[in-house]
Amino acid sequence: MIDIEKNIAAVQARICRALAENSRSDDSVELLAVSKKQPISAILAANTAGLRDFGENYLQEAAVKISELQEKSLNWHFIGMIQSNKARSIADEFDWVHSVDQLKIAQRLSTHRSASRKPLNICLQVNIDDEDSKAGVRPDQLSDLIGQVDKLPQLCLRGLMAIPSRSNSAEQTRQSFSRMSQLFELGKDQLNSPHFDTLSMGMSNDLELAIAEGATLLRIGTDIFGSRPT
Ligand SMILES: *Cc1c(COP(=O)(O)O)cnc(C)c1O
Repeated sequence: MIDIEKNIAAVQARICRALAENSRSDDSVELLAVSKKQPISAILAANTAGLRDFGENYLQEAAVKISELQEKSLNWHFIGMIQSNKARSIADEFDWVHSVDQLKIAQRLSTHRSASRKPLNICLQVNIDDEDSKAGVRPDQLSDLIGQVDKLPQLCLRGLMAIPSRSNSAEQTRQSFSRMSQLFELGKDQLNSPHFDTLSMGMSNDLELAIAEGATLLRIGTDIFGSRPT
């Protein structure tokens, strides 16, 4: 059996070491447990071990988990592809969305986020390695999108997200993270908002590189929950 508590301790030790090596404070990065395709029992185990933020890619699967785990008051992050006809449910169910790359989607999320609730936290996904197959705004169009999304009333623009190309070498991944860090700084200058504080990058295989380049939120699945059922 997979020992989720032990896995989390090991991931946290890696995070602490990487933060220390980069002279960063212990509380300068947050851990998002990516629980897609994992059972509710696994999420409960991670919650017992102290985690409260969970990332999901598939709306239907996530909705069941969110409803079953309502009493735990967890923070739910949508990190998958957004179909525009699902924007209403995503705006309803989640606290964060990391994968916004079009104004049209952002507008729908804002429209469908109830005014009685806190604005939905948003990260804009950047296609940092210019991959045809991958979602994300092109870096040269990011500034326009930041300006537009920032104006939407029921969204709170929190930062940027990226998934580097799988075919990158470690050195190339580090360069991609470094370019993300530069875009993040440009976004901060553009908005001058205390809310724009999140650089969502780094997964199981590259979290050390992401921390070295300034990630503030890591999205870790496999190294917490084990490999996903296919
Ligand atoms: C699945 C997924 C992750 C987690 O990846 P691991 O390699 O399992 O840590 C992180 N981010 C996104 C967007 C994902 O889809």
